[in-house]
Amino acid sequence: MTKPALFLDRDGTINIDRVYIHDPKLIELIPGAAKSIKKAQDAGFAIVVVTNQSGISRGLIDKNALPLINRRVSELLQDEAGASIDLYQICPHAPLDRCKCRKPLPKLVLEAANQLGLDLSRSAFIGDKLVDVGCGNRAKCAASILLRTGKGREEEHILKVGGRQIPAESRPSFVADDLAAAIDWFLASSKNLSNKA
Ligand SMILES: [Zn+2]
Repeated sequence: MTKPALFLDRDGTINIDRVYIHDPKLIELIPGAAKSIKKAQDAGFAIVVVTNQSGISRGLIDKNALPLINRRVSELLQDEAGASIDLYQICPHAPLDRCKCRKPLPKLVLEAANQLGLDLSRSAFIGDKLVDVGCGNRAKCAASILLRTGKGREEEHILKVGGRQIPAESRPSFVADDLAAAIDWFLASSKNLSNKA
């Protein structure tokens, strides 16, 4: 039996985006995020964070601090709503490193799916950037959702002015105000899918 999952970006999706979060003290959850993650877990979804942290390659984030920063995210999610993250998948590279794991490449999603036994056809990717949407689409998730938190409004604007120049793989299934709205939308639409099946 494989499990569906929510693949979540971290900064601007779960916690408030700040330029290069290098200290656990800088983590502040977006209102409603913890509760909505718990709701998805209760509905049987695994929760995987997939995050580009180029600040490591640039020397702006100490790679030993990153696990502590992620632990702080988990701690706050647990304290606020009893929510937890099954796996953190991190790309520490900058674009010029030309690695194989930086979003929008789907490698970290595919690895997590193998490791945890996840059914991507019943899973969603949710984030505040078009690279998140691109990553979910390339991994063939059921839905790739763009949020208006973090950088999302600027990204939505790029979608609007870009028109037909925006490649199909960067187009979201849905645009939601925040993580809570995205999870509500996806849980409702996956219920419809299973009713039809
Ligand atoms: Zn990488």
